[in-house]
Amino acid sequence: MKDIIEKERRIYNQWVANETLEDYALRYSPSKYRAWSSLLLANTALGGISFLALEAIGAVLLITYGFSNAFWAIILASIIIFIAGIPISYYCARYNIDIDLLTRSAGFGYVGSTITSLIYASFCFIFFALEAAIMAQALDLYFNLPLAWGYLLCSIIIIPIVFYGVTVINKIHLWTQPFWLILMLLPFYFVFSHEPEAVGYLIDFKGIVTNSNEFDIYYFGIATGISFSLIAQIGEQVDYLRLMPDKDKSNQFSWWFSLISAGPGWIVLGGFKQLLGAFLAALVIFTGLGIENAKEPVQMYLAAYNYVFTEPETALLVSTIFVIISQIKINVTNAYAGSLAWSNFFSRSTHSHPGRVVWMVFNIAIALLLMEFGVFEVLHKVLGFYSNVAVAWIFAVFADLAINKPLKLSPPIVEFKRAHLYDYNPVGFISMQIASVISILAFIGLFGDYAQAYSWLIAMLLSLVLSPFIAYVTKGKYYIARKNTHFRDSDQQVMCEVCDIHYAENDMAYCSFHDSPICSLCCTLESNCHDQCKPQESHVTRKKLTNAINWLFAGFLPENMAARIAHLFIILFYILSLVAVTFWFVGSGLGSTISSDLFIQKQYVLFSIISVLVCIGAWWLVLAHESRLLAENELSEHNKELIKEIADRKKIEGKLRLAKKEAEAANQAKGMFLANMSHELRTPMHGILSFSHLGLKNIDKENKEKNLKYFDRINISGKRLLILLNDLLDLSKLESGMMELGKEECDLAKVLEACLAEQESRIQEQKMLIKIDTLKNRLVFFDKVRIGQVITNLLSNAIKFTPSGKSIYISVNEETRNNVSSICFSIEDEGVGIPDEELEHVFDKFIQSSKTRSGAGGTGLGLAISQEIIHLHHGEIWAEHSPSGGSIFKFVLPIQ
Ligand code: ADP
Repeated sequence: MKDIIEKERRIYNQWVANETLEDYALRYSPSKYRAWSSLLLANTALGGISFLALEAIGAVLLITYGFSNAFWAIILASIIIFIAGIPISYYCARYNIDIDLLTRSAGFGYVGSTITSLIYASFCFIFFALEAAIMAQALDLYFNLPLAWGYLLCSIIIIPIVFYGVTVINKIHLWTQPFWLILMLLPFYFVFSHEPEAVGYLIDFKGIVTNSNEFDIYYFGIATGISFSLIAQIGEQVDYLRLMPDKDKSNQFSWWFSLISAGPGWIVLGGFKQLLGAFLAALVIFTGLGIENAKEPVQMYLAAYNYVFTEPETALLVSTIFVIISQIKINVTNAYAGSLAWSNFFSRSTHSHPGRVVWMVFNIAIALLLMEFGVFEVLHKVLGFYSNVAVAWIFAVFADLAINKPLKLSPPIVEFKRAHLYDYNPVGFISMQIASVISILAFIGLFGDYAQAYSWLIAMLLSLVLSPFIAYVTKGKYYIARKNTHFRDSDQQVMCEVCDIHYAENDMAYCSFHDSPICSLCCTLESNCHDQCKPQESHVTRKKLTNAINWLFAGFLPENMAARIAHLFIILFYILSLVAVTFWFVGSGLGSTISSDLFIQKQYVLFSIISVLVCIGAWWLVLAHESRLLAENELSEHNKELIKEIADRKKIEGKLRLAKKEAEAANQAKGMFLANMSHELRTPMHGILSFSHLGLKNIDKENKEKNLKYFDRINISGKRLLILLNDLLDLSKLESGMMELGKEECDLAKVLEACLAEQESRIQEQKMLIKIDTLKNRLVFFDKVRIGQVITNLLSNAIKFTPSGKSIYISVNEETRNNVSSICFSIEDEGVGIPDEELEHVFDKFIQSSKTRSGAGGTGLGLAISQEIIHLHHGEIWAEHSPSGGSIFKFVLPIQ
């Protein structure tokens, strides 16, 4: 399968392949990219806390619920947000992943965190809209720029800054931070010195709703809930902290300092700014500017700057500059975090990723539309509603990191890759759903006033209890679907064989579909594998519901129908819940924009009509889904067949290639054989012809001695020819199976003695030393003529290929080979040796070793004949290297 998929390389567009733009969105960010100092990143992460919505929240809390409730609400919410932020910041900075990747790992599962990505992305664009609107108000106030144009301008200027990711954002925050700090704190010095009684006015401030400045447990609950809605900000903080450098001994202090100050510590600044906002709101009312102005950050700071500058124009200009700087700083973060959240959401739900930059523009475009529609009231309502879900989410993650991990209910590793995770882990996913649903029901007032005021507390406690409980009940089974057995926890680069780009081992998984390493993003985007690499645990709810429906209808339903109905119910549940929530929003929140009486009267009729339409749509969805699955299955079957066919063809191709190679080798061998043969035949033939010619010519002239010499030469050449012809004859007999063996009980040592005697004169001539170690009187059944032929050939080769004066070692002993007791003959020389790759081939017909081919003579038939003879005896023959550099030839014969 690999070969086929290999050709379809994934080619990312330039934006995705360029990590300066992409910022390792959706991935582990490797140390080579994290080159910024931890303090610089902390500065960037804290730069976003300039947002003036903080002051606005402080002002609203004070004006609505009075000083004590507002003050203690801000303090309590800040303390809890701080604590929740500690483990989340630590894990993101230590493992270099963003909040979404952490959520997957911390009990939600790979798909389970898609919903939190969506909620987080919504936070990002809602806050973007709210903050940009504050900036537009300032532009309107100073330049009289109509709000609609202001919204557009405030949105567009963010795009070029966030386009280049953290690289440019770092610079923006570095340059603006000192101005922003000075501009924020400067007016307070003047206010305190000119108007010391403003503090007393703040403390005595009575809320509109409470009509008192005293502490009230009910209103305190509501106020805390509002301040608590800021909890999701930790996601934006860690979007930067994930790029912190590795912690080591040299940077320990600054690492921890940056982590704590820019991670959980954001709320220290955040809480302080809410209190400042409360103070400024009191100041605005104190100076007689009215309640509506007291909620607007521009007016709040303008009131303060009026104490700094005597000229109202200058005060307005400086406060406008301050608002613009503050809001650009936060909206850069909102747009950046939104781009990551949308990338996370869409890459998993659609298996495509056009690039972080595209989602950044998308995020800003939605925010702009919301601003242009002027739906700020709805946005505030949605935020209040959402904050229950956000609290449930953040505390489910917190519980996993701070409770489940120390209790070993959750694995110590942080795993975010699709290949290794279950789609859903009930630990976080179910905890968050239960906590969200119950807290939302409380929030809309179903469980009474106090439960409504404290719905945030319900969400928080439920998540904190449910997460460890479900982890305990499920025994942590759904955290890891497949163990990572291929890659280490390291930044070593490995090539992803799908996109051909190198990523750190920490970002890689082994893909069984592609049969190769795959990077986490390619794995996310793979839509054809159907998660074949891991156990499937999806659609559990649908399966359970199908069983229940089958049971209810006791088998009356046609096959498949129960599954269809279950699927329909699930789709209906989600869509109708969404419709119901929208109705609730419209019914309760927009009384001023549409006639709520008319709406309440008709809402049931409207809901019924919409429900019917939703039912039709849902049924269509179920059937469309089914037919898509069918088509996909069919396609995959065809694919399988195709793949098999291609594999078969490749096999045949391989065989053909091998056969071609063999034919070429045979051809080459034939060529060599012909060359050798003609040489071997021609040399003795020449000898015979030339000496017989000489003899004939000079028969009367020459003396007897000379004639004898001619006959001797003719005789030698004739013998040489005879040996060659005998060899060829032997080989053809052996190959055609015509060779008959005359086996009898013989002693191999005796046969060896006879062969040595035959070669005595050559041994003497070459001054060779023969060392023999043989087993005597061991009788074995074999054909002594043929085995003698083998030994003579081996001995003659050893003499032929060993320089004079060297030694030859011969041994005969008994050994057990493959459980058969055998007699083993070995002959070792100190000659030229045989190269490794030729050790086997020298037994082939007409083959000579490359070391001896030139000039040594021979036909390359001796070893081939020897091998055939040994095989006929059911033995084995082979060649080895000798430690001296020469060769060892061995053969074994079974004793029985
Ligand atoms: P021949 O010796 O007639 O060429 P053989 O079949 O006996 O034919 O040997 C085949 C080849 O194996 C030789 O040509 C030589 O290249 C190689 N060979 C055989 N024995 C030895 C040895 N003892 N040392 C080095 N090469 C050897």
